[in-house]
Amino acid sequence: MHQLTLAEIARGLADKKFSSEELTKVLLARIAQLDPQLNSFISLTEDLALTQAKAADARRANGESGALLGAPIAHKDLFCTQGIRTSCGSKMLDNFKAPYDATVVAKLAAAGAVTLGKTNMDEFAMGSANESSYYGAVKNPWNLEYVPGGSSGGSAAAVAARLLPAATGTDTGGSIRQPAALTNLTGLKPTYGRVSRWGMIAYASSLDQGGPLARTAEDCAILLQGMAGFDPNDSTSIDEPVPDYSAGLNGSLQGLRIGVPKEYFSAGLDPRIADLVMTSVEELKKLGAVVKEISLPNMQHAIPAYYVIAPAEASSNLSRFDGVRFGYRCEDPKNLEDLYKRSRGEGFGPEVQRRIMVGAYALSAGYYDAYYLKAQKIRRLIKNDFMAAFNEVDIILGPTTPNPAWKLGAKNSDPVAAYLEDVYTITANLAGLPGLSMPAGFVDGLPVGVQLLAPYFQEGRLLNVAHQYQLHTDWHTRTPTGF
Ligand code: GLN
Repeated sequence: MHQLTLAEIARGLADKKFSSEELTKVLLARIAQLDPQLNSFISLTEDLALTQAKAADARRANGESGALLGAPIAHKDLFCTQGIRTSCGSKMLDNFKAPYDATVVAKLAAAGAVTLGKTNMDEFAMGSANESSYYGAVKNPWNLEYVPGGSSGGSAAAVAARLLPAATGTDTGGSIRQPAALTNLTGLKPTYGRVSRWGMIAYASSLDQGGPLARTAEDCAILLQGMAGFDPNDSTSIDEPVPDYSAGLNGSLQGLRIGVPKEYFSAGLDPRIADLVMTSVEELKKLGAVVKEISLPNMQHAIPAYYVIAPAEASSNLSRFDGVRFGYRCEDPKNLEDLYKRSRGEGFGPEVQRRIMVGAYALSAGYYDAYYLKAQKIRRLIKNDFMAAFNEVDIILGPTTPNPAWKLGAKNSDPVAAYLEDVYTITANLAGLPGLSMPAGFVDGLPVGVQLLAPYFQEGRLLNVAHQYQLHTDWHTRTPTGF
């Protein structure tokens, strides 16, 4: 039963092959048995899951239907869940029980999804390896000595290991697409404003976006359908109708114009990944797509710009964690200043402290123009590059990451080495564009992802292309040994 996709679960529940309660029990037992190897969950919510599963079964018995009604999922532990610990992977929030549900959590619960737990993540979503979590590193089910990617590494590892069919993630610079690539999943970062950020603990507010991680594009369509939509509680949420993503999966790719940016094939890219990217292009050509070389001339500036803007916003967002209002407070503070300093010094881990310092520096008087303002200008140039490219092509295709997963600890002494792994993903966040990563092969037994980018609000096009690709390839069906 644990091998079923969301789409298969929906059919099984509709045909009364099993109940949501039965399925939930199977998956909870599987998590208890296998997760100790992976560390993909921070909290399990067994009681809530069983209550929600029974309620979903009762709704189905009353004639209700819906693709998510009774479907087991999990939430990255930065989506607020009422009365349940919402830690953001940090000691700072280890004792924090959210007083309300995030919009994403509430919407999925209303659609009948069953929450099995909260997944592990890099502390405050800062990272690409899921090693900065207060709750310890997550292991990649494809090789337990390797990282699963981050920051949504817990969601990715759990889904890849078939502990559950799908989970939510968030993506500020790649944290859905990169772990999807490193664990052989399909992951979608929607257009900025498509999914509500209300109740999603902020890292960098102008870049953060929630989205689905699942094994197939078909399942990402189902989960995104439950997450997307206007929310008056989020002032950056966009009031655009949400298309029927599942209905759009079967569009023909005849004449689809794919752009492959020449800048993607630079020295940093593993040549074996470059080959797999070109193989995926050939596959899409067989389905009727036409391919064109394009240019994104400002791409080389994306990492420096991102690693100014994201820490700047983080330093502002994380100022609310002061030892007074939320979470961790140090023992025996001597005065107010000591309370602030020690609560933050003890509550935040080293990567979070590094980002706060970088961000505060970049925003300080005298440096603001040189760093923050300059980075914002680069951001606009990157967006303009994409706008020009999308005048010529319908979709942009390339690698999701320059390398496959690396060994646990391999990049710990050099944060910049990890930042460089984000080179292909962060431009979509800087421009606010939707992006999807899909399985495209293996290098040394480790999965490789191909990234698709589309114009604003064309999530449906990404899902359509990925679904057609998955109908003609079987990379996404490969299962890690032992799971
Ligand atoms: N790796 C990037 C960072 O550390 C992206 C993280 C994310 O998307 N949350 O900032």
